[in-house]
Amino acid sequence: MHAPLITMNDGHQVPALGLGTYQIRGGEGLDQVLTAIQDGYRLLDTSTNYDSEGIVGEAIRRSGLPRSDFFVTTKLPGKYHHYADALMMIQESLFRMGLDYFDLYLIHWPLPKRGLYVEAWKAMITAKKMGLIRSIGVSNFEPEHLDKIIEETGVTPAVNQIEIHPYWVQERMVRANKERGIITEAWSPLGRGNDALKESTITELGEKYGKTPAQIILRWHAQREIIPIPKSRNLQHQRENLAIFDFELTKVEIERINRLEKVDGRIDDQDPNEYEEFE
Ligand code: NAD
Repeated sequence: MHAPLITMNDGHQVPALGLGTYQIRGGEGLDQVLTAIQDGYRLLDTSTNYDSEGIVGEAIRRSGLPRSDFFVTTKLPGKYHHYADALMMIQESLFRMGLDYFDLYLIHWPLPKRGLYVEAWKAMITAKKMGLIRSIGVSNFEPEHLDKIIEETGVTPAVNQIEIHPYWVQERMVRANKERGIITEAWSPLGRGNDALKESTITELGEKYGKTPAQIILRWHAQREIIPIPKSRNLQHQRENLAIFDFELTKVEIERINRLEKVDGRIDDQDPNEYEEFE
């Protein structure tokens, strides 16, 4: 099974679902990424901060599949937002992964108090011109951060990867991205395995469609035109997470899931305007 492709605002295509690799590391992690690839995953989401760039690159080589089959995403750490640092880090990540280009490169967090994300964005525009990156995007950007980089460079991100799951629905940000022609990706799309998987709204829909709770939630993302990147180390879960393209929820059912949102629904209380990751 493969995820269908979606066309981004720069003309490149991205799979409609991918594999997250947060905390998938080392030799065991390598095997887990390889099983996912064998099972049909082509979008692989990593980050310098996750210490999984090396195993993702290695899994791609060991899979025996051509590089062009994959859509590889990684992200710029906060401590490298200065222009020269960002350009260096993009190249360092390529060496770590043993690749000569990224399909998508994201600014991991905006760190607005530090105020250097426009510099980082300019470095990514340069790296794209150098052929090191095909598509450039951001993560955890609020509308004002999006507008600032667009105004200052004239270049709109292809993707904004943000926290979305049934307890943190983010209708406001999904709309803000859409209005700007930006594709939304959902991080922690399963709420990192939280209680949303046990909500009766979800389990009842699972029974109706003969699907698991995780599949219902991932289908909810897909129908909101959001690309989820669920993480799983387990073959059975990896398989079921990818098998969401053969059924459809109704509009009313999508709205029922939207209503599971909580005021304090964020997993780790990471507000993009406040959160600072420098390591
Ligand atoms: P997730 O929502 O993908 O949840 C993963 C957990 O859900 C697993 O550890 C497992 O416990 C459970 N799970 C997975 N499949 C299941 C299934 N079929 N049935 C039942 N339980 C299942 O959480 P995540 O890993 O935090 O997020 C996914 C990816 O998003 C990460 O791996 C990473 O690549 C990315 N991410 C990005 C940011 C960012 O700031 N850009 C932040 C966090 C995560």
